[in-house]
Amino acid sequence: MSHDAAHAADLDRRYLWHPFTQMRDWLAGEPLVIVSAEGNHLIDAQGRRYLDGVSSLWCNVHGHRHPILDAAVRAQLDRVAHSTMLGLTHPGAAELAARLVPLAPDGLTRVFYSDAGATAVEIALKIAFQACQLRGETTRTRFASLVEAYHGDTIGAIAVGYSETFHRFYRPLLFDVLRLTPPHVFRWRDGMTEDAACAAAIDEARAKLHAHGHELAALIVEPLVQGAAGMWMHPPEYLAALARLAREVGTLLICDEVATGFGRTGTFFACEQAGIAPDLLCVGKGITGGYLPLAATFASEALFATFLAPYEDFVAFFHGHTYTGNPLACAAGLASLDVFEQEKTMTHVQGLARVLGEKLAREIAPLAHVGDVRRCGLMTGIELVRDRATRAPYSPAAKIGHRVCDAVRKHGVILRPLGSVIVLMPPLSLRMDELDLLVSATAQAIREVTQA
Ligand SMILES: *Cc1c(COP(=O)(O)O)cnc(C)c1O
Repeated sequence: MSHDAAHAADLDRRYLWHPFTQMRDWLAGEPLVIVSAEGNHLIDAQGRRYLDGVSSLWCNVHGHRHPILDAAVRAQLDRVAHSTMLGLTHPGAAELAARLVPLAPDGLTRVFYSDAGATAVEIALKIAFQACQLRGETTRTRFASLVEAYHGDTIGAIAVGYSETFHRFYRPLLFDVLRLTPPHVFRWRDGMTEDAACAAAIDEARAKLHAHGHELAALIVEPLVQGAAGMWMHPPEYLAALARLAREVGTLLICDEVATGFGRTGTFFACEQAGIAPDLLCVGKGITGGYLPLAATFASEALFATFLAPYEDFVAFFHGHTYTGNPLACAAGLASLDVFEQEKTMTHVQGLARVLGEKLAREIAPLAHVGDVRRCGLMTGIELVRDRATRAPYSPAAKIGHRVCDAVRKHGVILRPLGSVIVLMPPLSLRMDELDLLVSATAQAIREVTQA
């Protein structure tokens, strides 16, 4: 290791605390120090190149050091790096909102910026809740969400996006949420066909929403793909049914497209595939092409209008973050939309997704310990099981996902698992030869680890 990298590793071990990381394991290992990047590759201190197989945690869109994005951020730096949205505005924030609104599902006409997916979700929950209060629907004080939903790590977001593994210590802090079981065939609806599972999940949602709908401020869902749950997919029919049921019982619908937005599922937003338009939409991760922290909550004009009143009524939406609508981040966001147009990114994604599907079927699905391969666009989950016939899972102590991701590094690919699910979520700019490497290296690593 070079001196600089060794020094960084040393300081890291002495001073840092990493997200979602058992630091005992981290401290016992040798950290990989990334010093630069180029296109879809990350480069370590020794100059070794790694394909960024999970888009730097699901956010990179057009690759790293893209000339158009780099130039846009540099140009903004020559104007102003940050000024506030509280009482002032700036061109980047306004232009980005104006360009995003036509891309969003119909009727979402207002953009409230923040700086992370979790904050975008908190904002949606608070807007929904306050709107009900302002409309005099004061009994609508609960939320509904899907089992194993993930909406971020702040307290409100973990209340709606509860995971037993991650959040059990905070349970006494969390508000009570109505849970709907999604049609996840592999674990939850074992033995059912996809159609039967979808019908059963819709029946359950109908019964619960009809019983409790009048108590609900909103139903929140990750459309089509429950990412952090382990890439659980549901068919567009399920999403469409939830949207219909929400309308029936008069509750608002929040779609959390923090992971699925900006092309990841094969359409610009996942909602498009179900032909639905929620009342509130949360985006983050890919909004700046994966360059800088920015998030946004889209709201309908009707919701926006609910908050209009004389100043002294104090019904404004009292919420904000210091870096809300940061100009550098907005410049990256605008440049990212330019790249979507110039590079015809969505056309490329559709071709990529088709070939990815073929390769997964040929190279991954037949492997002895692969229980399930799930994919929507470029979002892929490969669930590893101890026994394919019984679907018996690996014990957590086997750290099967982490071991496969360690092994795939030696083949020049960076991945990050979700338990025993290997996630592939490459940048939309992935080239076909890079796709070959991504799938073949993953297959090789799964074979090495599961046959050892
Ligand atoms: C990542 C994610 C979030 C949280 O975003 P952060 O920027 O990490 O706070 C929220 N919802 C979904 C669906 C996500 O995948």
